[in-house]
Parts: sequence; structure tokens; C-alpha cells
Amino acid sequence: MHWNKVRECMSRDQLRSYQFEKLKETIDRVYHNVESYRQKMQEKGIIPEDINSLEDLKLLPFTTKQDLRDNYPYNMFAVPLEEIIRIHASSGTTGKPTVVGYTRRDIANWAELIARCLTMGGGKRESVVQISYGYGLFTGGLGFHYGAEKLGAVVVPTSGGNTRRQVMLMKDLKTEILACTPSYALCIAETLEEMGIKHEELNLKAGIFGAEPWSDNMRKELESKLGIKALDIYGLSEVIGPGVACECMEQQGLHIFEDFFIPEIIDPITEEPLPEGERGELVITTIDKEGLPVIRYKTRDITSISCKPCPCGRTHARIEKLLGRTDDMLIIRGVNVFPSQIESALMIAGDAEPHYLIIVDRKDNLDSMEVLVEVSEKLFADEVRKLEEVRRKITSSIYTTLGINVNVKLVEPHTIERTEGKSKRVIDKRKL
Ligand SMILES: [Zn+2]
Repeated sequence: MHWNKVRECMSRDQLRSYQFEKLKETIDRVYHNVESYRQKMQEKGIIPEDINSLEDLKLLPFTTKQDLRDNYPYNMFAVPLEEIIRIHASSGTTGKPTVVGYTRRDIANWAELIARCLTMGGGKRESVVQISYGYGLFTGGLGFHYGAEKLGAVVVPTSGGNTRRQVMLMKDLKTEILACTPSYALCIAETLEEMGIKHEELNLKAGIFGAEPWSDNMRKELESKLGIKALDIYGLSEVIGPGVACECMEQQGLHIFEDFFIPEIIDPITEEPLPEGERGELVITTIDKEGLPVIRYKTRDITSISCKPCPCGRTHARIEKLLGRTDDMLIIRGVNVFPSQIESALMIAGDAEPHYLIIVDRKDNLDSMEVLVEVSEKLFADEVRKLEEVRRKITSSIYTTLGINVNVKLVEPHTIERTEGKSKRVIDKRKL
């Protein structure tokens, strides 16, 4: 099932000529309306007329989160404020948040994208869709909300929190599709267990989970605990919010909606474009955005891209399930480590709950890494020898995955703090 078959299944040739036409419009718009883009292009000696093919995209300057901060709050908007109807902002852990603005057309386009994603998850007009992403400045809640309404679904805007009530409503209202962060979905799954409700008593069919990277192993866990198909959705507020890319039922990568976004993969160090299939940093250019178009936005997300045909019939390229962010990447004794790799290693080792915390420190100029792992109630009550065996198994699984030795410590169930938004996986105590 497709929401917009004409657009989602157009031939690659058609798609490329459509992209070029929209790219030209976007470059004209930013060059004439956004001072910082004009300046950057002038510094590179480029005018809009120099862009004569999609390949010329690489002549354009990159955009970073810092550019948005430097132009806080409105200076990168490409339209006057009277045309903006919505503001969202990303959580700034340090300093000012990043403010993004949407015109009426942008909001409608965003709803179109989410309607496509929900359709990928089997959503229809009669589907009950529960939105447990936070509502507010964060793009998750309202982004999904308008898309689910556009689909014509029965929208249940529970937002995050009050998990027992969420579960009660999920059961009583016969929710079919759950949209939230994967860590919150796990929290919901645990609450189901606590409340003694089996997933067979629910009507859940699919979950659309995003806003943080999660592993295929966590997918298996969520699918078995909730009795669903768990699909990954990708997005970021600087580009539009959730709905930049989403998995179809094939679960072989996320289709990036190329009639709205042009993706590139670059080497994070040299910034040179990488060929199809190679892993690097995802860079996105929006080609149908009025309020805040971005040119070659460096997402800091690590993935690869494939244009191979998908059995679902969609022609839009697929990005590999995200492996983490260039900022989350820890360098431990010279080895690149992503928290998602630790998660995979834990799931391979079995016995462990997928709740963990990585603590990195440096003593005598040597990096040390400790991983706290929650074990099940049953196991924790078991004899010490059994626990030691599990600990050794996890240590060896992490060693196999990363090639470095880490100190694994098993902790009692529910001792690692749960968050309803994004989960904190790493504490870095090093003074780098
Ligand atoms: Zn597909």
C-alpha cells in the first residue's frame, strides 16, 4: 500500500529531473532571501546559474547546526514572519536551542510525509493511531499528529508520560499503530508486563519508532514483546522533523523521500562525497521547503545509501538503519565506538535486559570503559556463579564486537534511570 503512488514510485529518471527542477528553485530562493547563504555562495564564487545538473550540488557550501545557531532565531528563514505559522525547536543541551519555522505549505508537506510513513506501517483511515511522542517544541508529537489526521486515522494524542494510563487507553481504544521513541516503546512493554497484560489482548499491529538510534536486536525485542512490526522512522527538526525517511514492511533500510530531500553521503573528515553503499555522514538538501530550506545540511548521522529497487515498489533510495551520530561516537583507545554497537553486543549475549549505561573515564592517560547492564529479576536472584558466567559472556560479546576490553558490571533490575524521551546511554568523565 502506498499513500502517494505517483510520487513514491516514479522512475529514477523522472525523479532526477523532478529533483533538479526543485533544486534550482530552492537555490534561487535561498540566494535571494537568506543573507548567510548568499554570503557563503559568494565566498565560493558561485551564483545560482552555475548549478546546471544534480551533480553540481557538490559545488554548494555545507550547512551546519552552528549556522542555525549563529543566525538564531530567524535569520535563516527564507520567508517573512507573516508567512510562518509554526515554530519548533530542538533541545539545546548547551546554550540556545535551534529554532525552525514552517509555512502553511511546509506543514501540509510534512503531514504528507507522515501520512506516507503511517501507510508504510499499514495505517488506514480506520486505524487507531496512538501518538506517544512528546507534544511541544519537539517535532515528534505535532509532526505525527498532523500526518495522522491527514491520513484520516483515529488519532489518540497521548503524548509521553503516565505509562499505565497509556497502556489502559491502548487496550480500551484498540490502538493499532503506536508512534514513539523506541526506548519509550520498551518502557510501555515493561509496563504491560507489570500490569499483567499480554500483547495478545491488545490490537497493536505496528510501531513507528524514531528520534534516537536503535538496533535490529532491539527491534526483535520490541516486536516479540508487543506483537508488532516495528518500523524505524528518521528525521530531524533542521530538515523538517520526523518523516524524512521511513522503513517499509520489508525492513531493509529506510526510504528517504527523494521528492522532498536530496541525500548525499560524505566522508565525515574530508567532506568528500562517497559512492553508493559506503558508510559516512548523511547530508540532506531540502527541495520543497519554504520557511527554512537547508542546503547540504550536515546531519552528523552515520549511514549508507542504496538505490536498489525495493520489493515494495517504492523507487526512493534507502538509507541503512542509522548507526549513531558522529557526535555520539566515542573514541576509546583509538577505536570508534557507537553506543548502538554495545546494545547489539548485549542482545547477542542474551540474558541481559537492553538497559545499559556506558561510563567512560581516563586514568593515567588510558581510557577506560565500564558498561552497567541490568539483568532480569530472575537472574539476579540466582546464585553468584551464574551471574559471573553472564558477566563473562557479555564481556566477551563486547570484545568480539568492538575489539576492546571493557569492564562489565551487572546491576539489579530498574536501577538504570528510564527516560520517556531520549535515553541517556553514555557518561563521559574524561576531560578531553
Ligand atoms: Zn520498500
